[in-house]
Amino acid sequence: MKHFDIIVIGGGHAGIEAAQIASQFGLSIGLITIPGIPLGSAPCNPSVGGVGKGQVVRELDALGGIMGILADKAGIQFRTLNESKGFAVQSSRVQIDKEAYAIAAEELIASIDNITVVREKVQSIQKNNELFEVTGENTYTSHKLIMTVGTFLNGKLHTGSEQSFGGRVDCEPSKGLQDLFQAIKTRPQRFKTGTPPRIDKATIDYSKLEEQPSDISVRNFHCMHEPFNRHISQASCWLAHTNAETMEVIRENKEKSPMFNGQIKGIGARYCPSIEDKAFRYPDKNVHHVFIEPEGLNLDTMYPSGISSSLPKEIQTEYVRSIVGLEKAEIKVYGYAVEYDVIDTTDLKITLEHTQISNLYFAGQVNGTSGYEEAAGQGYIAGVNAALAFLGLNPLILSRHDTYIGVMIEDLTSNTRDEPYRLFTARSENRLYIREDNSILRVYPYRTSLHLNHAIDRYQREFVSNFDELMNFCDQTMISEKSELMERFSREGELQKLSRRMSVTEILKQAWLNPVSTLEELLSHYGIVLSYDLVRTVAISKKYEGYIKRSEDQFHKLKKMDSMSINWQEISESNNISFECKQRIKRIRPETFGQLKLIEGIRPATLAVVAAKAL
Ligand SMILES: Cc1cc2nc3c(=O)[nH]c(=O)nc-3n(C[C@H](O)[C@H](O)[C@H](O)COP(=O)(O)OP(=O)(O)OC[C@H]3O[C@@H](n4cnc5c(N)ncnc54)[C@H](O)[C@@H]3O)c2cc1C
Repeated sequence: MKHFDIIVIGGGHAGIEAAQIASQFGLSIGLITIPGIPLGSAPCNPSVGGVGKGQVVRELDALGGIMGILADKAGIQFRTLNESKGFAVQSSRVQIDKEAYAIAAEELIASIDNITVVREKVQSIQKNNELFEVTGENTYTSHKLIMTVGTFLNGKLHTGSEQSFGGRVDCEPSKGLQDLFQAIKTRPQRFKTGTPPRIDKATIDYSKLEEQPSDISVRNFHCMHEPFNRHISQASCWLAHTNAETMEVIRENKEKSPMFNGQIKGIGARYCPSIEDKAFRYPDKNVHHVFIEPEGLNLDTMYPSGISSSLPKEIQTEYVRSIVGLEKAEIKVYGYAVEYDVIDTTDLKITLEHTQISNLYFAGQVNGTSGYEEAAGQGYIAGVNAALAFLGLNPLILSRHDTYIGVMIEDLTSNTRDEPYRLFTARSENRLYIREDNSILRVYPYRTSLHLNHAIDRYQREFVSNFDELMNFCDQTMISEKSELMERFSREGELQKLSRRMSVTEILKQAWLNPVSTLEELLSHYGIVLSYDLVRTVAISKKYEGYIKRSEDQFHKLKKMDSMSINWQEISESNNISFECKQRIKRIRPETFGQLKLIEGIRPATLAVVAAKAL
């Protein structure tokens, strides 16, 4: 019987991240995954990043994770989302070649000596004393076990009235894992997600669609890659739109939709609606964006983002062909919805270890989240904490104050979910500070606390020290009003604003100046050569210094209030609180005001009663 220090079940986005970070501590890792499904495969939208998620990928990268490295290697179209808004809420999004991504994942994991990839489907898990016994074709034992089985627990697929059991198309579900779950008292919940039909790329009339080429000015995710270097050829995405006919086809067939005729019971994400959801939720709206995205340079399918569906096949064909540019579209793989079991994440500690079964960790879609980035972020947290616990070291807890990963983990573990959880910037109270450009600065203290000395640690040490120096340079360097630089930075009608001696910091804050190109120009004037990433981080930090300070102050006030201890037993006896709120409080047992606030369904009146008592 082969023994590992840690076993990770599942080679998806959560699993590979968990295995990789745990391996950095020199432990033996068994990564057991279903044969035939490549590591890091993308069953849905082949893209990485996006609003709130781009920040997670950069945080992971700064923590020594791998998603950013893989996305850069497989990236075929780079974009900045929210480009017209401030730097704080801008996010990078990379269309990936899903084959290239999986190849890069396989290569990266294979290059790590202390990870053994076992291609077997796990059929049962037992816990005997302190050891887990994991059985597929063979039996393996471990001290720590990380479950990252995605949508495979009791997975059921739907396309119209056709139903089959599976974790995703052409893959059987994972059934035998229930033995272990019988030991868990909380009942699993059932969620659903869906995917659109894939279209033969040769049958699309691109002349009728709007082209979206790759943007050469978007930085790679991995901090040690050349910022604008592309690893493979680039390809365009295309924009199409639904119309009245498209939506009419869907509305006319409501009774054939498994989501609306009662066939699907699982709950889907509000923020990732299917085309049926859009048709019935917004009955007056017929025009919706459909992004037509390549799945890979050598693959002959396009992914139409925005029209995921579980309608019968013939109806999918009809509505797809009603879209301008897709009149002759041939569907290669039909869309479907998948229902699956998820665990109750309020049973998890903030390290993602289960409270009822020690040494067992959960990460990814099985925790009721949706999205590759959310899965990868949790995989890292479960992997690093399983390794630290194995070594008897302190856990790594990321605060919601300075990371989106921290926001997600706190949200998940404090609150029951009634729909799949997705990250977006509004989930953070501190989003002016939690930006993509300063991810290294935010995450550096956490990474340093791991006491690892890899190339990325040396890179970051130097980055942080150069950051401090450049920030000082901006404060201390004064530019005379007579300098030719001032003339260049002036704008008609605003000249008088630059008619006095100013520090570089003051110049960077001028509303009409792009802080990044301005600082680049200033530094080149002084003959100072620094990396683009460093200049960008300093320029944006300076531009928003005032706002960030205000938002930090606000956050600290909130945090002070949130850290107030409360007595949940006493509150759940109170006559001034509704029965429903008391039930929720008894279930979650919040120990602080902050935790109480995060509980779904807690009414403002309850918060007022508790606050009045505690203040
Ligand atoms: C149909 C579909 C539609 C989706 N739509 C979206 C979407 O619109 N937006 C979005 O953000 N996300 C979507 N997703 C979710 C996205 O795929 C996941 O969020 C992400 O892949 C989750 O990563 P994970 O690591 O948790 O699970 P996965 O990537 O699914 O990986 C699970 C892994 O577990 C392995 N595994 C399962 N059971 C066993 C077993 N018994 N033994 C060994 N290995 C096992 C599998 O081989 C697989 O490698 C969709 C997923 C599916 C299937």
